[in-house]
Amino acid sequence: MAISDHELIEAWKHVLTLSKLEKGQHVTILTGANTYPQTLRTAQVACQALGATISRLDLLPVNGEKALSRDPLAYLGVTPLTGNAPALAALKASDLVLDLMTLLFSPEQHEILAGGTKILLAVEPPEILVRLLPSVADRQRVTAAAALIEHASLMHVTSPAGTALSCPIGEFPAISEYGFVDEPGRWDHWPSGFVLTWPNELGSNGKIVIDRGDILLPHKSYAQDPIELQVTNGFVTSIEGGVDAALLRDYVEQFNDPEAYAISHIGWGLQPRARWSTLGFLDRESHIGMDARAYEGNFLFSMGPNNEAGGDRTTACHLDIPLRNCTVRLDDRVVVENGKVLDRGVSS
Ligand code: FE
Repeated sequence: MAISDHELIEAWKHVLTLSKLEKGQHVTILTGANTYPQTLRTAQVACQALGATISRLDLLPVNGEKALSRDPLAYLGVTPLTGNAPALAALKASDLVLDLMTLLFSPEQHEILAGGTKILLAVEPPEILVRLLPSVADRQRVTAAAALIEHASLMHVTSPAGTALSCPIGEFPAISEYGFVDEPGRWDHWPSGFVLTWPNELGSNGKIVIDRGDILLPHKSYAQDPIELQVTNGFVTSIEGGVDAALLRDYVEQFNDPEAYAISHIGWGLQPRARWSTLGFLDRESHIGMDARAYEGNFLFSMGPNNEAGGDRTTACHLDIPLRNCTVRLDDRVVVENGKVLDRGVSS
């Protein structure tokens, strides 16, 4: 169901106010070939209403000939900012960048943030942006979960399907994604609502079972049969099962990169307005799957790079796989039990 410009302008104003956009600040709206026109035009109206100075920067797409899907997260590496000093200078000179293009996983993004510029990614379709509008309560919940990760040394995950994964943590920071940018140099993603970190390098061991009904990203499909992954010293060493396992093996193999098999970020969903069940309603090429990444109580694990967290691993292949019905422990504390978040009474 479509939404009106007025509704999306109000949503932008809400997010920009949470992001502390002030009169006279410089906002650059970064756009690309897949930017939603309604998102762009309403962002401009909202920024202007709040008194900001607005520039637009439209960059041409890259990697289209290499990527195996049209999802912007399906092939990482070179970005439209690589070697593009004038564009980089414009972004670095901004107080806030609204990324309607998808700049994620680029060294240039780190450079922009290091100067204090904020970046807010917003590429989901307009109706998803409005449905998953972030709140101060989201921030409290996600940052409280991040604090639990910061104080833990082991994340352990089990499920009735057979997952039994042990991930020592602490080498990499906990990342809070709550949907707005309220601090200088902060990156966030509207919509989101989850917490994550990366396992210690070469530290993860055990087994992950992607159960029937779990979601594969960027495939944007529900697994029809279980897929069993053996994890040894931080890497997936086998992918076994039926047709879905064969499809997954074939997808990763095409990157011809051993680093594609590394366990990347791990964490859990905390967004009650995001739903596991929405995927089947959406055109696969219209969105990037944030309902799946954020739905409350998932255990989200990933394969691929860790350079987002300051690690050395860069690989063009990146998979995000949220699992249902998991129990997640941080040291001895259960934070998710059979897919239900246990955070009552936790404060930030
Ligand atoms: Fe990811």
